[in-house]
Amino acid sequence: MKINGNFLNLKDSYLFATVGRKTAAYRAAHPEKEVIRLSIGDVTLPLAPVVIAAMHSAVEDLAHRETFKGYGPDQYCYAYEPLLSSIRASYAQKGVMLDADEIFVSDGAKSDCGNILDIFSVDNTVLVPDPVYPVYLDTNVMAGRRVLFADANEQNGFLPMPDPSVRADIIYICSPNNPTGAAYSREQLKAWVAYALACDAVILYDAAYEHFISDDALARSIYEVKGAEECAIELCSYSKTAGFTGVRCGYTVVPKALKRQGVMLNKLWARRQSTKFNGVSYVTQMGAAAVFTPEGERQIGENLAYYRRNAAVISACLDSLGIWYTGGKNSPYIWMKCPFNMDSWTFFDYLLENANVVGTPGSGFGKNGEGFFRLTAFGTAEDTAEACARIEALLKDKA
Ligand code: PLP
Repeated sequence: MKINGNFLNLKDSYLFATVGRKTAAYRAAHPEKEVIRLSIGDVTLPLAPVVIAAMHSAVEDLAHRETFKGYGPDQYCYAYEPLLSSIRASYAQKGVMLDADEIFVSDGAKSDCGNILDIFSVDNTVLVPDPVYPVYLDTNVMAGRRVLFADANEQNGFLPMPDPSVRADIIYICSPNNPTGAAYSREQLKAWVAYALACDAVILYDAAYEHFISDDALARSIYEVKGAEECAIELCSYSKTAGFTGVRCGYTVVPKALKRQGVMLNKLWARRQSTKFNGVSYVTQMGAAAVFTPEGERQIGENLAYYRRNAAVISACLDSLGIWYTGGKNSPYIWMKCPFNMDSWTFFDYLLENANVVGTPGSGFGKNGEGFFRLTAFGTAEDTAEACARIEALLKDKA
Protein backbone atom coordinates (compact mmCIF):
# COMPACT_ATOMS: atom_id res chain seq x y z
CA MET A 1 0.00 0.00 0.00
CA LYS A 2 1.23 3.46 -0.85
CA ILE A 3 -0.26 6.73 0.36
CA ASN A 4 -0.81 9.67 -1.96
CA GLY A 5 2.61 11.23 -1.40
CA ASN A 6 1.44 14.51 -2.88
CA PHE A 7 -0.21 15.25 0.47
CA LEU A 8 3.27 15.53 1.95
CA ASN A 9 3.91 18.45 -0.41
CA LEU A 10 1.10 20.53 1.12
CA LYS A 11 2.21 23.48 3.20
CA ASP A 12 0.68 23.52 6.66
CA SER A 13 -1.88 26.27 6.98
CA TYR A 14 -1.28 28.12 10.22
CA LEU A 15 -3.18 31.25 9.25
CA PHE A 16 -6.56 30.97 10.99
CA ALA A 17 -5.18 28.79 13.80
CA THR A 18 -2.55 31.42 14.59
CA VAL A 19 -5.09 34.27 14.38
CA GLY A 20 -7.30 32.34 16.82
CA ARG A 21 -4.44 31.48 19.18
CA LYS A 22 -3.06 35.02 19.31
CA THR A 23 -6.54 36.49 19.84
CA ALA A 24 -7.33 34.02 22.64
CA ALA A 25 -3.99 34.73 24.34
CA TYR A 26 -4.60 38.49 24.20
CA ARG A 27 -8.13 38.07 25.60
CA ALA A 28 -6.86 35.88 28.44
CA ALA A 29 -4.19 38.44 29.34
CA HIS A 30 -6.60 41.42 29.05
CA PRO A 31 -10.07 40.21 30.11
CA GLU A 32 -11.25 43.80 30.55
CA LYS A 33 -10.70 44.67 26.86
CA GLU A 34 -13.46 44.26 24.31
CA VAL A 35 -11.85 42.64 21.26
CA ILE A 36 -13.65 43.08 17.92
CA ARG A 37 -13.16 40.61 15.07
CA LEU A 38 -13.10 42.08 11.58
CA SER A 39 -11.62 38.79 10.47
CA ILE A 40 -14.97 36.97 10.18
CA GLY A 41 -15.20 35.09 6.88
CA ASP A 42 -18.61 33.64 7.69
CA VAL A 43 -22.01 35.29 7.43
CA THR A 44 -23.68 36.36 10.67
CA LEU A 45 -27.25 37.29 9.65
CA PRO A 46 -29.95 34.58 9.79
CA LEU A 47 -31.56 33.00 6.73
CA ALA A 48 -34.25 34.97 4.92
CA PRO A 49 -37.85 34.24 6.09
CA VAL A 50 -38.86 32.93 2.61
CA VAL A 51 -36.05 30.38 2.79
CA ILE A 52 -37.09 29.27 6.26
CA ALA A 53 -40.74 28.94 5.17
CA ALA A 54 -39.73 26.87 2.11
CA MET A 55 -37.58 24.61 4.27
CA HIS A 56 -40.39 24.12 6.82
CA SER A 57 -42.76 23.21 4.02
CA ALA A 58 -40.21 20.76 2.57
CA VAL A 59 -39.83 19.10 5.98
CA GLU A 60 -43.63 18.72 6.07
CA ASP A 61 -43.50 17.05 2.61
CA LEU A 62 -41.15 14.47 4.07
CA ALA A 63 -43.64 13.70 6.84
CA HIS A 64 -46.32 12.25 4.53
CA ARG A 65 -46.30 9.20 2.32
CA GLU A 66 -47.89 11.13 -0.60
CA THR A 67 -45.25 13.88 -0.67
CA PHE A 68 -42.24 12.04 0.76
CA LYS A 69 -38.99 12.28 -1.24
CA GLY A 70 -36.07 9.86 -1.31
CA TYR A 71 -33.14 10.27 -3.68
CA GLY A 72 -33.53 13.23 -6.01
CA PRO A 73 -34.39 12.84 -9.71
CA ASP A 74 -31.50 11.30 -11.67
CA GLN A 75 -32.24 13.26 -14.80
CA TYR A 76 -30.39 16.33 -13.53
CA CYS A 77 -27.90 14.70 -11.16
CA TYR A 78 -30.46 14.77 -8.30
CA ALA A 79 -31.45 18.43 -8.62
CA TYR A 80 -35.15 19.28 -8.33
CA GLU A 81 -36.83 21.19 -11.12
CA PRO A 82 -37.95 24.26 -9.08
CA LEU A 83 -34.35 24.90 -8.03
CA LEU A 84 -32.97 24.52 -11.54
CA SER A 85 -35.69 26.83 -12.91
CA SER A 86 -34.86 29.50 -10.34
CA ILE A 87 -31.13 29.32 -11.19
CA ARG A 88 -31.92 29.54 -14.92
CA ALA A 89 -34.12 32.59 -14.24
CA SER A 90 -31.34 34.23 -12.23
CA TYR A 91 -28.90 33.70 -15.14
CA ALA A 92 -31.48 34.99 -17.63
CA GLN A 93 -31.50 38.29 -15.69
CA LYS A 94 -27.80 38.58 -16.59
CA GLY A 95 -28.58 37.82 -20.24
CA VAL A 96 -27.20 34.27 -19.93
CA MET A 97 -29.46 31.50 -21.21
CA LEU A 98 -28.73 28.04 -19.78
CA ASP A 99 -30.31 24.64 -20.25
CA ALA A 100 -31.27 22.76 -17.09
CA ASP A 101 -28.68 20.07 -17.83
CA GLU A 102 -25.88 22.65 -17.82
CA ILE A 103 -26.46 23.32 -14.10
CA PHE A 104 -25.20 20.93 -11.41
CA VAL A 105 -26.42 21.47 -7.85
CA SER A 106 -23.87 20.70 -5.15
CA ASP A 107 -23.26 21.07 -1.43
CA GLY A 108 -21.17 24.20 -2.07
CA ALA A 109 -18.49 25.79 -4.18
CA LYS A 110 -15.61 24.50 -2.06
CA SER A 111 -16.40 20.86 -2.79
CA ASP A 112 -16.86 21.54 -6.48
CA CYS A 113 -13.60 23.54 -6.68
CA GLY A 114 -11.82 20.37 -5.65
CA ASN A 115 -14.08 17.75 -7.27
CA ILE A 116 -14.11 19.32 -10.73
CA LEU A 117 -10.44 18.42 -11.05
CA ASP A 118 -11.46 14.76 -11.46
CA ILE A 119 -12.31 15.49 -15.09
CA PHE A 120 -8.85 16.89 -15.93
CA SER A 121 -5.59 15.04 -16.44
CA VAL A 122 -2.88 15.45 -13.80
CA ASP A 123 -0.53 16.44 -16.63
CA ASN A 124 -2.21 19.84 -16.94
CA THR A 125 -0.46 22.99 -15.81
CA VAL A 126 -2.53 25.13 -13.47
CA LEU A 127 -2.48 28.92 -13.09
CA VAL A 128 -3.67 30.32 -9.77
CA PRO A 129 -3.55 33.90 -8.59
CA ASP A 130 -1.24 34.87 -5.71
CA PRO A 131 -2.66 35.77 -3.17
CA VAL A 132 -5.15 32.96 -3.42
CA TYR A 133 -8.15 31.22 -1.85
CA PRO A 134 -6.07 28.25 -0.58
CA VAL A 135 -8.45 25.57 -1.95
CA TYR A 136 -7.31 26.17 -5.57
CA LEU A 137 -3.71 25.56 -4.71
CA ASP A 138 -4.04 22.72 -2.21
CA THR A 139 -6.43 20.61 -4.31
CA ASN A 140 -3.96 20.71 -7.20
CA VAL A 141 -0.98 19.96 -4.97
CA MET A 142 -2.90 16.92 -3.67
CA ALA A 143 -3.35 15.71 -7.24
CA GLY A 144 0.29 16.38 -8.12
CA ARG A 145 -0.31 19.02 -10.81
CA ARG A 146 2.24 21.65 -11.77
CA VAL A 147 1.11 25.02 -10.40
CA LEU A 148 2.12 28.44 -11.71
CA PHE A 149 1.16 31.73 -10.09
CA ALA A 150 -0.30 34.89 -11.61
CA ASP A 151 1.07 37.74 -9.55
CA ALA A 152 -1.61 40.01 -8.10
CA ASN A 153 -0.11 43.14 -6.58
CA GLU A 154 -0.52 46.86 -5.95
CA GLN A 155 0.64 47.67 -9.52
CA ASN A 156 -2.15 45.68 -11.17
CA GLY A 157 -4.72 46.50 -8.49
CA PHE A 158 -4.64 42.81 -7.45
CA LEU A 159 -6.24 41.93 -10.81
CA PRO A 160 -3.55 40.10 -12.79
CA MET A 161 -4.07 39.95 -16.55
CA PRO A 162 -2.97 37.10 -18.83
CA ASP A 163 0.69 36.88 -19.74
CA PRO A 164 0.95 35.54 -23.31
CA SER A 165 4.37 34.06 -22.55
CA VAL A 166 2.86 31.74 -19.91
CA ARG A 167 1.08 28.56 -21.02
CA ALA A 168 -1.55 27.15 -18.71
CA ASP A 169 -4.25 24.53 -19.15
CA ILE A 170 -6.43 25.23 -16.12
CA ILE A 171 -6.88 28.84 -15.00
CA TYR A 172 -8.51 29.90 -11.74
CA ILE A 173 -10.25 33.26 -11.59
CA CYS A 174 -12.10 34.41 -8.49
CA SER A 175 -14.07 37.62 -8.90
CA PRO A 176 -14.94 39.40 -6.64
CA ASN A 177 -11.85 37.94 -5.09
CA ASN A 178 -11.21 36.34 -1.75
CA PRO A 179 -8.99 37.62 -0.13
CA THR A 180 -8.44 40.88 -2.07
CA GLY A 181 -12.01 41.99 -2.80
CA ALA A 182 -10.86 43.10 -6.27
CA ALA A 183 -13.31 42.37 -9.10
CA TYR A 184 -12.73 42.13 -12.85
CA SER A 185 -14.60 44.31 -15.33
CA ARG A 186 -16.27 42.70 -18.32
CA GLU A 187 -13.48 44.13 -20.51
CA GLN A 188 -10.78 42.51 -18.39
CA LEU A 189 -12.57 39.17 -18.47
CA LYS A 190 -12.69 39.39 -22.27
CA ALA A 191 -8.89 39.28 -22.25
CA TRP A 192 -8.89 36.18 -20.05
CA VAL A 193 -11.44 34.44 -22.26
CA ALA A 194 -9.39 35.28 -25.39
CA TYR A 195 -6.25 33.93 -23.69
CA ALA A 196 -7.96 30.71 -22.58
CA LEU A 197 -9.38 30.11 -26.04
CA ALA A 198 -5.95 30.73 -27.59
CA CYS A 199 -4.26 28.27 -25.17
CA ASP A 200 -7.09 25.71 -25.37
CA ALA A 201 -7.27 26.16 -21.59
CA VAL A 202 -10.28 25.93 -19.27
CA ILE A 203 -11.11 28.71 -16.82
CA LEU A 204 -12.53 27.71 -13.45
CA TYR A 205 -14.44 30.87 -12.57
CA ASP A 206 -15.35 31.18 -8.89
CA ALA A 207 -18.34 33.51 -8.62
CA ALA A 208 -19.05 32.86 -4.91
CA TYR A 209 -19.26 36.63 -4.24
CA GLU A 210 -21.06 37.76 -7.41
CA HIS A 211 -24.05 39.06 -5.46
CA PHE A 212 -21.91 41.74 -3.85
CA ILE A 213 -21.40 43.40 -7.23
CA SER A 214 -23.34 46.62 -7.70
CA ASP A 215 -21.18 48.27 -10.39
CA ASP A 216 -22.61 47.71 -13.89
CA ALA A 217 -19.18 47.54 -15.53
CA LEU A 218 -18.36 44.41 -13.56
CA ALA A 219 -19.43 40.97 -14.70
CA ARG A 220 -21.56 38.85 -12.37
CA SER A 221 -20.98 35.80 -14.55
CA ILE A 222 -18.13 35.01 -16.90
CA TYR A 223 -20.77 33.95 -19.43
CA GLU A 224 -21.58 37.64 -19.89
CA VAL A 225 -18.44 37.53 -22.06
CA LYS A 226 -18.90 36.02 -25.52
CA GLY A 227 -16.88 32.85 -26.03
CA ALA A 228 -16.77 31.99 -22.31
CA GLU A 229 -19.23 29.16 -22.89
CA GLU A 230 -16.46 27.48 -24.89
CA CYS A 231 -13.76 27.82 -22.24
CA ALA A 232 -15.21 28.34 -18.76
CA ILE A 233 -16.83 26.46 -15.91
CA GLU A 234 -18.53 28.67 -13.31
CA LEU A 235 -18.75 27.80 -9.61
CA CYS A 236 -21.47 29.47 -7.57
CA SER A 237 -22.64 29.30 -4.00
CA TYR A 238 -25.61 30.23 -1.83
CA SER A 239 -23.22 30.64 1.11
CA LYS A 240 -22.46 34.34 0.96
CA THR A 241 -25.38 35.18 -1.34
CA ALA A 242 -28.06 33.91 1.01
CA GLY A 243 -26.35 32.92 4.25
CA PHE A 244 -26.15 29.19 3.43
CA THR A 245 -22.69 28.58 4.93
CA GLY A 246 -24.20 26.15 7.42
CA VAL A 247 -27.00 24.86 5.19
CA ARG A 248 -24.66 23.97 2.26
CA CYS A 249 -25.77 24.51 -1.31
CA GLY A 250 -24.09 25.68 -4.49
CA TYR A 251 -24.18 25.05 -8.22
CA THR A 252 -21.68 24.64 -10.99
CA VAL A 253 -22.32 25.48 -14.62
CA VAL A 254 -20.66 23.36 -17.30
CA PRO A 255 -21.88 24.58 -20.71
CA LYS A 256 -22.49 21.98 -23.38
CA ALA A 257 -20.49 24.14 -25.81
CA LEU A 258 -17.35 23.48 -23.75
CA LYS A 259 -15.40 20.69 -25.44
CA ARG A 260 -11.80 19.56 -25.27
CA GLN A 261 -10.28 16.80 -27.42
CA GLY A 262 -13.73 16.60 -29.00
CA VAL A 263 -15.35 15.61 -25.68
CA MET A 264 -18.09 17.60 -23.92
CA LEU A 265 -16.88 18.37 -20.39
CA ASN A 266 -20.53 18.53 -19.37
CA LYS A 267 -20.83 14.79 -20.02
CA LEU A 268 -17.68 14.02 -18.01
CA TRP A 269 -18.90 16.06 -15.05
CA ALA A 270 -22.39 14.51 -15.19
CA ARG A 271 -20.75 11.09 -15.13
CA ARG A 272 -18.47 12.06 -12.26
CA GLN A 273 -21.32 13.47 -10.19
CA SER A 274 -23.69 10.55 -10.77
CA THR A 275 -20.89 8.17 -9.79
CA LYS A 276 -19.51 9.90 -6.68
CA PHE A 277 -22.35 12.14 -5.43
CA ASN A 278 -25.98 11.50 -4.45
CA GLY A 279 -27.24 15.04 -4.42
CA VAL A 280 -28.16 17.75 -1.92
CA SER A 281 -30.98 17.19 0.56
CA TYR A 282 -34.53 17.97 -0.58
CA VAL A 283 -35.04 20.41 2.29
CA THR A 284 -31.89 22.34 1.34
CA GLN A 285 -32.82 22.43 -2.33
CA MET A 286 -36.31 23.75 -1.58
CA GLY A 287 -34.81 26.45 0.67
CA ALA A 288 -32.36 27.41 -2.09
CA ALA A 289 -35.17 27.49 -4.67
CA ALA A 290 -36.78 30.29 -2.66
CA VAL A 291 -33.69 32.51 -2.94
CA PHE A 292 -34.05 33.61 -6.57
CA THR A 293 -37.78 34.37 -6.38
CA PRO A 294 -38.81 38.05 -6.38
CA GLU A 295 -39.49 37.99 -2.62
CA GLY A 296 -36.34 35.94 -1.97
CA GLU A 297 -34.21 38.42 -3.88
CA ARG A 298 -35.78 41.29 -1.95
CA GLN A 299 -35.06 39.62 1.38
CA ILE A 300 -31.49 38.51 0.63
CA GLY A 301 -30.99 42.00 -0.81
CA GLU A 302 -31.60 43.43 2.67
CA ASN A 303 -28.91 41.19 4.17
CA LEU A 304 -26.47 41.99 1.38
CA ALA A 305 -27.18 45.71 1.89
CA TYR A 306 -26.32 45.33 5.59
CA TYR A 307 -22.92 43.82 4.76
CA ARG A 308 -22.39 46.42 2.02
CA ARG A 309 -22.97 49.21 4.54
CA ASN A 310 -20.33 47.65 6.80
CA ALA A 311 -17.92 47.49 3.86
CA ALA A 312 -18.64 51.16 3.10
CA VAL A 313 -17.90 52.11 6.74
CA ILE A 314 -14.53 50.33 6.59
CA SER A 315 -13.72 51.84 3.18
CA ALA A 316 -14.59 55.35 4.43
CA CYS A 317 -12.31 54.83 7.43
CA LEU A 318 -9.37 53.83 5.21
CA ASP A 319 -10.13 56.67 2.77
CA SER A 320 -9.99 59.19 5.61
CA LEU A 321 -6.62 57.77 6.68
CA GLY A 322 -5.28 57.77 3.11
CA ILE A 323 -4.61 54.01 3.25
CA TRP A 324 -4.51 52.14 -0.07
CA TYR A 325 -6.88 49.19 -0.41
CA THR A 326 -8.82 47.08 -2.88
CA GLY A 327 -12.35 45.73 -2.45
CA GLY A 328 -14.99 47.14 -0.15
CA LYS A 329 -17.17 48.34 -3.02
CA ASN A 330 -18.30 45.19 -4.81
CA SER A 331 -17.11 42.77 -2.19
CA PRO A 332 -17.42 41.96 1.53
CA TYR A 333 -13.61 42.00 1.75
CA ILE A 334 -11.33 44.98 2.20
CA TRP A 335 -7.68 44.34 1.41
CA MET A 336 -5.59 47.13 2.92
CA LYS A 337 -1.95 47.98 2.70
CA CYS A 338 -0.35 47.78 6.14
CA PRO A 339 0.66 51.23 7.38
CA PHE A 340 4.26 52.19 8.29
CA ASN A 341 5.53 49.49 5.87
CA MET A 342 4.73 46.88 8.52
CA ASP A 343 4.61 43.26 7.49
CA SER A 344 1.25 41.52 7.80
CA TRP A 345 1.83 39.81 11.17
CA THR A 346 3.47 42.88 12.75
CA PHE A 347 0.38 44.90 11.79
CA PHE A 348 -1.87 42.12 13.14
CA ASP A 349 -0.16 42.37 16.55
CA TYR A 350 -0.12 46.19 16.45
CA LEU A 351 -3.85 46.39 15.72
CA LEU A 352 -4.75 43.73 18.28
CA GLU A 353 -2.70 45.33 21.04
CA ASN A 354 -3.49 48.98 20.34
CA ALA A 355 -7.04 48.94 18.97
CA ASN A 356 -8.20 45.49 20.12
CA VAL A 357 -9.27 44.76 16.54
CA VAL A 358 -8.57 41.45 14.79
CA GLY A 359 -8.06 41.09 11.03
CA THR A 360 -6.37 38.50 8.83
CA PRO A 361 -2.71 38.85 7.79
CA GLY A 362 -2.42 38.88 4.00
CA SER A 363 0.80 36.87 4.01
CA GLY A 364 -1.30 33.81 4.90
CA PHE A 365 -2.77 33.84 1.37
CA GLY A 366 0.51 33.79 -0.57
CA LYS A 367 3.78 35.64 -0.98
CA ASN A 368 2.12 38.67 -2.62
CA GLY A 369 -0.09 39.06 0.43
CA GLU A 370 2.88 40.12 2.56
CA GLY A 371 2.43 43.72 3.73
CA PHE A 372 -1.36 43.51 3.29
CA PHE A 373 -4.23 42.79 5.64
CA ARG A 374 -7.81 41.55 5.12
CA LEU A 375 -10.81 43.06 6.90
CA THR A 376 -14.33 41.74 6.37
CA ALA A 377 -17.82 43.23 6.37
CA PHE A 378 -19.52 40.21 7.93
CA GLY A 379 -19.59 41.51 11.52
CA THR A 380 -22.36 43.53 13.17
CA ALA A 381 -22.86 47.16 12.17
CA GLU A 382 -22.12 48.25 15.75
CA ASP A 383 -18.84 46.31 15.95
CA THR A 384 -17.78 47.52 12.51
CA ALA A 385 -18.40 51.16 13.41
CA GLU A 386 -16.61 50.80 16.76
CA ALA A 387 -13.63 48.98 15.21
CA CYS A 388 -13.29 51.68 12.55
CA ALA A 389 -13.45 54.45 15.15
CA ARG A 390 -10.62 52.74 17.03
CA ILE A 391 -8.55 52.21 13.86
CA GLU A 392 -9.03 55.86 12.94
CA ALA A 393 -8.02 57.06 16.41
CA LEU A 394 -4.95 54.82 16.35
CA LEU A 395 -3.70 55.71 12.88
CA LYS A 396 -4.89 59.31 12.40
CA ASP A 397 -2.05 61.66 11.56
CA LYS A 398 0.32 58.68 11.55
CA ALA A 399 -0.61 56.44 8.60
N1 PLP B 1 -14.94 30.22 -3.08
C1 PLP B 1 -14.45 31.26 -2.39
C2 PLP B 1 -13.60 32.25 -3.08
C3 PLP B 1 -14.71 31.38 -1.03
O1 PLP B 1 -14.19 32.40 -0.34
C4 PLP B 1 -15.51 30.42 -0.39
C5 PLP B 1 -15.80 30.48 1.04
O2 PLP B 1 -15.31 31.21 1.82
C6 PLP B 1 -15.98 29.36 -1.16
C7 PLP B 1 -15.69 29.28 -2.49
C8 PLP B 1 -16.74 28.24 -0.50
O3 PLP B 1 -18.07 28.34 -0.67
P1 PLP B 1 -19.06 27.22 -0.11
O4 PLP B 1 -19.48 27.65 1.25
O5 PLP B 1 -20.17 27.24 -1.11
O6 PLP B 1 -18.35 25.91 -0.10
